[in-house]
Amino acid sequence: MFTYEKLELPRLGLRGLEAGLSEEEQAIQDATHRFALEVMRPIGRKLDRMTPEEVVAEGSPLHDYMAQMNAAGILDLGALAEMSNEQKARVFPLIFEELGWGDSGLAIATLASSIPAFTAHSTGDPEIIERFGSLPGCWLATQPERGSDVVDMDASEVHETTQQSKGNLLARKDGDEYVISGQSSAWVSYAPLAHTAMAYLPCDYGDGFYKEGEQGMHHVGILIPLDLPGVSRGKPLDKIGQRPLPQGEVFFDEVRVPAKYAIATGDAAIPQMMATLTFANMEMAATFTGVARSAFDLALEYVHERKQGGTAIINHQSVQVRTFDLWQRVEAARGLTQRVFNYNYSDSGPHLLASVTSKTYVTKTAFEVASEALQLFGGNGLTREYPIEKIMRDARASMIEDGENNILCIKGMRWLSRWYQDQHGLDV
Ligand SMILES: Cc1cc2nc3c(=O)[nH]c(=O)nc-3n(C[C@H](O)[C@H](O)[C@H](O)COP(=O)(O)OP(=O)(O)OC[C@H]3O[C@@H](n4cnc5c(N)ncnc54)[C@H](O)[C@@H]3O)c2cc1C
Repeated sequence: MFTYEKLELPRLGLRGLEAGLSEEEQAIQDATHRFALEVMRPIGRKLDRMTPEEVVAEGSPLHDYMAQMNAAGILDLGALAEMSNEQKARVFPLIFEELGWGDSGLAIATLASSIPAFTAHSTGDPEIIERFGSLPGCWLATQPERGSDVVDMDASEVHETTQQSKGNLLARKDGDEYVISGQSSAWVSYAPLAHTAMAYLPCDYGDGFYKEGEQGMHHVGILIPLDLPGVSRGKPLDKIGQRPLPQGEVFFDEVRVPAKYAIATGDAAIPQMMATLTFANMEMAATFTGVARSAFDLALEYVHERKQGGTAIINHQSVQVRTFDLWQRVEAARGLTQRVFNYNYSDSGPHLLASVTSKTYVTKTAFEVASEALQLFGGNGLTREYPIEKIMRDARASMIEDGENNILCIKGMRWLSRWYQDQHGLDV
């Protein structure tokens, strides 16, 4: 039982019901929050109003953001890699929630552009680290005719009468090189400014693209320098949410890449791609917990300012219930996210099932919280004078980004069903 002498006001942290951070965690949270507030928010709002061409142009505030992000050392890959799994499970969600609270498009620009460098460091190979370890890059997986099929790389959801679509960007092994031809989708984050790509492509190792008698294909996971002859870019994409995050196509015309840069080949390629998705989906959950929190914070402020019915609208009971509902959802999203980080960094994890569970739930929650928060703003919420409409547009994009939520749920349920069947000796 608990006992109270007097029921005081609750002690809440930036992340609501925070049960105590260590001194080091508190310092990381404070520094990241300050950066989110003072750097990300103003730059994100500016970029949101600019055209995609202006966002990537020389002198754009995006470059200023990337430079300040690097200088702040918030995502020091070396330091983060040295942490224990227990530290990673606590510190990563702390950092990404603050970045998402600041500006989700910029948070994803940082994350997506660091994937090739992260991957290079994880190989431990000095030559690969030297070539890719410090350059901004992109994660190049989707193609015009391979969107959700990328999430379903192991082809478990392909219609029984057919094979998986071959797509528009293919690799072919040729001696000690891979030859790459075709184009990515227009959705590759940071592609307009990337120097490198971590690409996952259907691959012909010498006996065709399709695995014999199967619906799926062989793949390769390969790091590609984007300054090689034959690489070109499309126009930056115009979209409704996360506008500070530049995106665009990358075209490849018989581009020859040293075979040494292939980090996952043959049967290892699909699990490696899923490992990247497992990490990215988990980070999406933390980032969009921050987005949901930013919508709640704005709503909480507004309901104490706006007067209707003769009083601040927070004094109306229905507004109290609606605002409390937002608070509960943010707390639930954060709780699930932390549980997934704990699981993925435990001896039981990591697993895609865990990350998909958090990504799909949290991004949907972020959109619902932003939409309901906008409702509390009334007509003001629809104007560009108030930041809530931007947060709603940003959250909307997250339900398609990093795997569309429905296909992710299908893959999640497939893993749950496989686990159930294994437990019960079934094969249905
Ligand atoms: C903000 C943002 C950032 C992104 N960043 C990147 C990036 O950095 N790199 C990259 O490579 N890509 C990126 N993408 C692309 C993203 O991964 C794809 O948009 C996503 O995988 C969906 O593919 P699609 O758009 O082709 O939709 P489609 O696959 O065409 O899906 C259309 C609809 O069909 C449904 N569907 C499709 N297949 C099935 C199936 N088998 N069973 C049931 N339903 C199905 C889907 O659920 C969806 O509702 C990004 C997208 C966004 C929005």
